[in-house]
Amino acid sequence: MTRRVSIFGATGSIGQNTIDLIARDPGRFDVVALTGGQNIARLAEDAKRLKAELAVTADPARLDDLRAALAGTGIEVAAGQAALIEAATRPADWIMSAIVGVAGLAPGLKALEQGTTLALANKESLVTAGPLLMATAARHGARILPVDSEHSAIFQALVGEDIAAVERIVITASGGAFRDWPLEKLAQASVAEASSHPNWDMGQRITIDSASMFNKALEVIETKEFFGVSPGQIEVLVHPESLVHALVGFRDGALMAHVGPSDMRHAIGYALNWPDRVDLPVERLDLARIGQLNFRSPDPARYPALDLAQQVMRQGGLAGAVFNGAKERALDAFIAGHIGFTDMAGIVARVLDKLTSQSGLVNDQITLDNVARLDHLARKGVDAEIAMRG
Ligand code: NDP
Ligand code: MG
Repeated sequence: MTRRVSIFGATGSIGQNTIDLIARDPGRFDVVALTGGQNIARLAEDAKRLKAELAVTADPARLDDLRAALAGTGIEVAAGQAALIEAATRPADWIMSAIVGVAGLAPGLKALEQGTTLALANKESLVTAGPLLMATAARHGARILPVDSEHSAIFQALVGEDIAAVERIVITASGGAFRDWPLEKLAQASVAEASSHPNWDMGQRITIDSASMFNKALEVIETKEFFGVSPGQIEVLVHPESLVHALVGFRDGALMAHVGPSDMRHAIGYALNWPDRVDLPVERLDLARIGQLNFRSPDPARYPALDLAQQVMRQGGLAGAVFNGAKERALDAFIAGHIGFTDMAGIVARVLDKLTSQSGLVNDQITLDNVARLDHLARKGVDAEIAMRG
């Protein structure tokens, strides 16, 4: 029987890796919806190749381009936020959530409401609204399968295990583009330098977030929200080879490590075929040739974002929405050349302090509206910080 699948963020790095796996096995899948943003050519080409029912661009200004690109194909086209939400209601057995940023939250929630299996790459959903996402899945009998490589690794190490027997979870970090740079040089790091990852080929935003460890900070929060462990049980280790993706430590002292190539098609393929394992087109590691694996503790001076994750988890509630919104805006400002690489963490820290100290703000209920409100306030806070610097 074929499976109906939709891919949100189909034109991005995760989306394209997902399409690569699906296109290798065309008889197994019926593609329902593909969504993208600015990359209309890619979206249209893949919609044709995969015979999708529907193609959606997030940008209403690009609807005519998409319509022209798909004229005469019989593929439905749509644009804008409401169209993304509508696409998430189209019945599908498996939906990939791979939009970048908090924009992925609303379509993901809508997808869960149809009781589907949601393959979750969009970590921002769990960071900004973890309890809402998990409760929505539970209420509608939907399943969330992690796609972030560390979380897929943890998930796989936990198969057949009781979460109550878990003592700690260790997630690894490559250390990003600047792990060996002298600290005093970091302030001068350029966007191009921050956009090149030593081990992984990913979208630009997550690559820069890897260099600053904001990505790992998001992943620590993601671990807490998805697996329900306490902040004190989560550790981060720098592991320059990026081959051990995570380790789960049990009460008896055993550590179960997940080792695999730095290729997202592994984690995507696991989620696509779960609970089965199928052949995947990924490298088989030759450990004798690799020879050694290294681990070290992250230097807090180099990676201040990690401490911010602890602060966010202590505060709970909507602090994750503030953190993520401020991070996204600070990243925009770095990419636009308005602030330096090391300015991002300081600005996010100040916005987080300001908004979380205003009574009650982050303690409001976690709803889509409140996430959007706090996200907006956080972005305005970042703009104000940057304006103050003149
Ligand atoms: P990319 O930047 O490569 O792709 C993002 C996708 O989202 C594109 O399809 C883009 O469209 C679309 N998009 C951008 N902005 C919006 C918006 N406002 N509304 C709707 N769609 C939008 O990102 P990645 O694939 O790298 O990452 C996607 C998600 O997966 C992120 O949450 C990331 O943290 C997570 N992730 C990624 C990993 C990776 O290896 N890349 C690993 C683990 C997690 P277009 O390009 O057409 O404009
Ligand atoms: Mg990851």
